[in-house]
Amino acid sequence: MAASKTSESSSRVISTKPPIGCALLLMDLFRSYLHQQRLPVTHQREAIAMSLFESEQQLSVDDLAELLRRRGEHVGKATIYRTLSLLVEADLARELDFGEGFKRYEHQAGEARYDHLICTNCGRVERFTRPAVDDLQDEIAAELGFFVQSRRLEIYGLCGRCKAGEREIGEDVGVRPK
Ligand SMILES: [Zn+2]
Repeated sequence: MAASKTSESSSRVISTKPPIGCALLLMDLFRSYLHQQRLPVTHQREAIAMSLFESEQQLSVDDLAELLRRRGEHVGKATIYRTLSLLVEADLARELDFGEGFKRYEHQAGEARYDHLICTNCGRVERFTRPAVDDLQDEIAAELGFFVQSRRLEIYGLCGRCKAGEREIGEDVGVRPK
């Protein structure tokens, strides 16, 4: 069914492992947001949001278009962009820019704060949360008299597989430290 095409994103595995409860909760919040904004809850908006909510990965617009296509949903990229903007405004998604020349998006449930490790060789992204990092941030901010509004911690390097030589170094996916 899925025509295999070689592209940047196909070098990464796009999986959807659904933490279903969480996705459904986020979907309820999205519907409420749309009602609040007096915007229609369309099938396309729901399909786009659900694809993001069910994924534990940081997806580009191309990734989402591909996921939707595999589900038999034909949604234009402009619609995907607009829906992602709404999700970001609703605080249900976060926009990420790892200097790849395109943005990625991940769903965000509530207050959870994620930091990222980015492989400069294969483009793999791992997200993590560590209370110790939050504590350190608060400590530093207090020391310097800062009120923290947001944080972006991106660690660039080689993922385990690239480090072990399982992927050829220089298999370029265009990720560059900024
Ligand atoms: Zn890698």
